[in-house]
Amino acid sequence: MLTNDKLIDWLTLFADELIANKAYLSDLDSPIGDGDHGVNMARGATFLKEAFSEKQPQNISETLKLTGMTLLSKVGGASGPLYGSAFIEMSKVTEEKLNSEALITNLKNGMAAVGKRGKSTVGEKTMLDVWDPVIKSLEKNELSSEAITTFVDKTKDILATKGRAAFLGDRSIGHIDPGAASSGLLFSTMLKAGV
Ligand code: ADP
Ligand code: MG
Ligand code: MG
Repeated sequence: MLTNDKLIDWLTLFADELIANKAYLSDLDSPIGDGDHGVNMARGATFLKEAFSEKQPQNISETLKLTGMTLLSKVGGASGPLYGSAFIEMSKVTEEKLNSEALITNLKNGMAAVGKRGKSTVGEKTMLDVWDPVIKSLEKNELSSEAITTFVDKTKDILATKGRAAFLGDRSIGHIDPGAASSGLLFSTMLKAGV
């Protein structure tokens, strides 16, 4: 059951992991992008932690909305508006708590918002290549941190057709997608928070 407290714990862990993995995420973005994904995400994460400590949001919807607005306005790059859209879409919930079915529906809505905003779909070497198998695993109640690592690693094999990596064509193959890696952190911290 996802409560507001658990959601804040989860997103705080996510922010901590983004900050801890700043260099790693930017390194992933160097061969197939412009080398700033970690810097972008860590900046958003720092602002998010600050926003939570200034005034703790009082329900799931407020927490998701604050997260979306913060990522949208502070991350920059392609990933800011994409993560921002996901969380803002997911904030359109009225329930005080989400059971696993409601959480899955909500994640699907978030994923759809990324696809709409990015005009992208699964199989293009983006964060969607982690969101999609994660949601499918959750539906089968078999998501694990090992599975998440596998999904992230599998983006190596994909030819990029969206984002900066698409400019590289075949040369995008063999590299992990940075946004897939940051989404991996989103979902591994979800497990860590006991969601
Ligand atoms: P930028 O490319 O503007 O420097 P970032 O480096 O912060 O932005 O983010 C790059 C990541 O954003 C990619 O690794 C990819 O996962 C994601 N991304 C880029 N374009 C799209 C898109 N159209 N749809 C979904 N995800 C995308
Ligand atoms: Mg970049
Ligand atoms: Mg950039």
